[in-house]
Amino acid sequence: MKCAIVPVLLALLLAGCATEKGVVDKGAYELDTRRQAQAAYPRVKVLVIHYTADDFDSSLATLTDKNVSSHYLIPAIPPQHNGKPRIWQLVPERDLAWHAGVSFWRGATRINDTSIGIELENRGWQKIDGQKRFVPFEPAQIAALIPLAKDIIQRYDIKPQNVVAHADIAPQRKDDPGPLFPWQALAQQRIGAWPDPARVAFYLNGQPPYQPVETSALLDLLARYGYEVPENISPAQQKRIIMAFQMHFRPQLWNGVSDKETMAIAEALLEKYGQG
Ligand SMILES: [Zn+2]
Repeated sequence: MKCAIVPVLLALLLAGCATEKGVVDKGAYELDTRRQAQAAYPRVKVLVIHYTADDFDSSLATLTDKNVSSHYLIPAIPPQHNGKPRIWQLVPERDLAWHAGVSFWRGATRINDTSIGIELENRGWQKIDGQKRFVPFEPAQIAALIPLAKDIIQRYDIKPQNVVAHADIAPQRKDDPGPLFPWQALAQQRIGAWPDPARVAFYLNGQPPYQPVETSALLDLLARYGYEVPENISPAQQKRIIMAFQMHFRPQLWNGVSDKETMAIAEALLEKYGQG
């Protein structure tokens, strides 16, 4: 609270400020903040994890230039200062960063408007023998990410199902952070969603995990969980959505093929976290 300190008015103003606790003097007007609504929620609802697909210096240059930005950037091996890993904050959390692009999650578009973005320095993938080969994340980088992600999740009360990969919210354009990102280990630290193995086994119901299922049935589950599944998309586009889901929740095989285990994982997630 600010009060003008013109001497002749001092006593009067101090009296005013002191007696009206919760009334804020804004200079040209006052704000009465004594009644607070119950239906008030943080504007930030989603935490998006990325990799930069570049080295640290180039990542920092790109993320501080005019076209894209992210709230946080974590080096592959964060330098230690006072025994603590150093993380770069490039955008204050109250401001919007341009990290998500055209995006969709659980009925919402423009995820930049409602999210915090964390970029991890990582080279992404290289094609070797026609296969995308991803680069593992450094344990020191994940160790730095964990307390930062926990802070953000706690401050905004972000739901586990809203801690997402960039690929989850833009599966047609993005792979990051890819299948080597340790989602399962993070979920054990209460960062993000993970299905209960017993429920996956229940839905698998003894059938072979890679037994084919109807793609439309799987996509229906993924749409209910939160992915954007437009009508009349091509088989290649359908495959991209399934791959994004598998990279997140079944990283040992992300071939984009509709199979029984992928379906069982989606059913177990829906049961645990509800529909998007
Ligand atoms: Zn990204």
